[in-house]
Amino acid sequence: MREQIEYLEGGALAAVLTPDMPDRTLDYRVPEGGARVGAFVSVPLGPRRVKGVIWGPGAGDYDLSKIRQIGAILDVPPMSPLMREFVTRVADYTMTPLTAILRLATRVPGLGDPPGKRRIVRLTDQQPSRMTDARERVIAFLEEHRGMGFAPSELAALVGVTSSVVKGLEKQGVLRSEDAPRDAPFPRLDPDLPSKDLSNDQNNAATTLREAVRSRTYGTTLLKGVTGSGKTEVYLEAVAECLRAGRQALVLLPEIALTGAFMSRVEARFGAAPAEWHSGVTQAGRRRAWTGVAEGRVSLVVGARSALFLPFTDLGLIIVDEEHDGSYKQEEGVLYNARDMAVLRASLTKGQVVLASATPSLESWVNARAGKYARIDLTERFGAAVLPEMRAVDLRIDPLERDSWISEPLANAVQKRVEAGEQSLLFINRRGYAPLTLCRACGHQVGCDDCDARMVEHRFLNRLMCHQCGATKPIPTECPSCGNADHIAALGPGVERLAEEVERRFPDARMAVLSSDMTMSARALKQRIDEIAAGGADIVIGTQMVAKGHNFPLLTLVGVIDADLGLQGGELRAAERTFQLIRQVAGRAGRADKPGLAMIQTHQPEHPVIKAILGGDEEAFWRAEAAERQQAGVPPFGRMAGIIVSGPEERETFDLARALAARAGILTQAGAQLFGPAPAPVARIRGRTRVRLLVKAPKGLALQSLLSHWVRDVVPRPNYRIAIDIDPQSF
Ligand code: ADP
Ligand code: ZN
Repeated sequence: MREQIEYLEGGALAAVLTPDMPDRTLDYRVPEGGARVGAFVSVPLGPRRVKGVIWGPGAGDYDLSKIRQIGAILDVPPMSPLMREFVTRVADYTMTPLTAILRLATRVPGLGDPPGKRRIVRLTDQQPSRMTDARERVIAFLEEHRGMGFAPSELAALVGVTSSVVKGLEKQGVLRSEDAPRDAPFPRLDPDLPSKDLSNDQNNAATTLREAVRSRTYGTTLLKGVTGSGKTEVYLEAVAECLRAGRQALVLLPEIALTGAFMSRVEARFGAAPAEWHSGVTQAGRRRAWTGVAEGRVSLVVGARSALFLPFTDLGLIIVDEEHDGSYKQEEGVLYNARDMAVLRASLTKGQVVLASATPSLESWVNARAGKYARIDLTERFGAAVLPEMRAVDLRIDPLERDSWISEPLANAVQKRVEAGEQSLLFINRRGYAPLTLCRACGHQVGCDDCDARMVEHRFLNRLMCHQCGATKPIPTECPSCGNADHIAALGPGVERLAEEVERRFPDARMAVLSSDMTMSARALKQRIDEIAAGGADIVIGTQMVAKGHNFPLLTLVGVIDADLGLQGGELRAAERTFQLIRQVAGRAGRADKPGLAMIQTHQPEHPVIKAILGGDEEAFWRAEAAERQQAGVPPFGRMAGIIVSGPEERETFDLARALAARAGILTQAGAQLFGPAPAPVARIRGRTRVRLLVKAPKGLALQSLLSHWVRDVVPRPNYRIAIDIDPQSF
């Protein structure tokens, strides 16, 4: 696609946007020879030099003699008008300063630095004069990564020491410094290597997607296919077509732990590895990928949500895999939903979006029903594999014994699998040992000192932990409230406690626990998952993370320990989430030649959500959910924003929220509604009180401009904040 290029003459004024400044551009004089709008530049800012982007012509409406000159134009491809428009639109949509979005789009270390300026350090044979704990850790890390060089600042960050430790080791000759090697070129991906033989359904789906890609227009397709139906094989054919068309493609994945297995699959299809983009990629790797994408040398990126902000020159296709996944919504800093922003980006670049899921979000289901998205269904598993049988275990009929969470029917089914050499997965969506530490004498519940949350017992830490802020404290031996030492008890099951029961009941079985709070590196985690897939465990116990696309071919039984858990709390989204989660987990069973069984422990098998999970009419479930949302006027039928007011003092925080509420007239006159203030879903984090207001508006309303008009005149005092969350996840 040809884009218009805007030049600024030497001596003209340029408005430069830099991530190092609050939300405004600064004017600088363009050096001799001129510069392109969009160029990356280095400019003086006070005593510092910072990097930025020429955002447009300067205004020059003040003392021109004070204006400084752009220091240097960096050797980086300029940011395209389309990319600048994307950055602007995301900023407008999320009501975030432009500079914050620019930071997302330029988060590359050493951007534009000449190669000679980049250094790496390596380990030598020299011993330090004196060993300290920090030094030892640096050396151990480098020994573990033999042969690899790291930028000094990166090394310090990775090991968790200050950069002076690295400097010290360098001075003593323990580390040797050298110029960073030139970036290796990217191998070409070959879309014409033979693909797998697709089934009829897969073939039809692939043909439709290929045509869409060839159209070079914007469009979004919901690819809804049961787990194991071969969605990945299908969308890789769309990627192949995109590569054939000479355009770039992006595959977004929700869980970086999965990228390893996924990368091998992509490599097998195209004969070379694509570029990767996520927090586990080294600084050098990220710079190489970023530059490769900007120069159009990278044709395919596989990455986490932030890959959406890479400087693609001609993005023809974005795949959002497991599009329903909550982790696409960034909940800190810039609050954006990568799925929605992918649609925005593709509409700008005239590209296609494929949203793939076995359990789509209600939003996407509704958009497909309304004809905004195309929809393709894959209803059968690929090959001989059949969908698992879904069976409820009614806990009113088969009650649990005291301090036991596995019913007899489930225990028997596990036992059978163990004897047959097949795998079982027991799923519980609760980290830690026990969710509640309670004094049975006085009823006191041990909570976090800084948050409105109970402390969760973790046996492997031998401490209580707050899942909001991560604070820990010792497990009390007596009640902190009444002093009684005999009645303090851990109540309810967590993944660790379930593991304890499994050990007790199946002493001869090999057990593996997969929980997101087990401090494991991505690599170690991938290794563990590979071991399990190869048959290295008989019983796998896991939290939410096992729900996501792992492929365990020997797994024939899935037990959901507490299906009712997610249905409490009265949130409108609870049903959707529970359905997605349990369906995804159940989908792990029986992927290869053996049929699978999913057993769902519940106290309310007649609940509509549980019934839908058990294989009722799924479309009817979605229709009912949609009707309920429509009735309530909430997304996707209405618009919504959460306003989180936070601050150190509870009274003042509420006062600030009430000051906003007092101006509700601005909202109601425009046809919106205000709810609250009320304590936020997490009412206190890290000692800060959080109060939430919810704004609900009809679809056609320009919500963002209304909100900014509403909050504009309420200026919080220092240390108090008003944060706006467009399309909040929970309501
Ligand atoms: P989904 O993404 O829908 O869960 P996958 O694409 O991961 O499904 O496919 C499930 C399994 O079936 C994988 O092991 C995959 O390699 C295999 N598979 C899917 N389609 C084919 C095909 N056409 N030929 C051979 N194997 C296939
Ligand atoms: Zn806490």
